[in-house]
Amino acid sequence: MFSLSTLAISCPEHARLESEFLEARDRFRGLARLRQLTRAEEKRLAEQVAMAIARVKEHVAEHGCQQR
Ligand SMILES: [Zn+2]
Repeated sequence: MFSLSTLAISCPEHARLESEFLEARDRFRGLARLRQLTRAEEKRLAEQVAMAIARVKEHVAEHGCQQR
C-alpha cells in the first residue's frame, strides 16, 4: 500500500489531496469491515482510492513539494 508521511507537509494543496486519499481509503476499509462489498462496490471504492493516490503523486510531481 502506498504510504505517505503526513508529517512535514507544508503545502496546503498537497495536504488537502492527501486528506482526500486518507478519507477514500478509510471509507473503503470501513465499509469492507462493516459488510461484504459487492464486486462493483469494491471496484468503485478501490478506484476512488487509486485516483486519490494518483492526484497526490501528480501534484507532487508538478509541484515538487514533497520534502524528504
Ligand atoms: Zn504542493
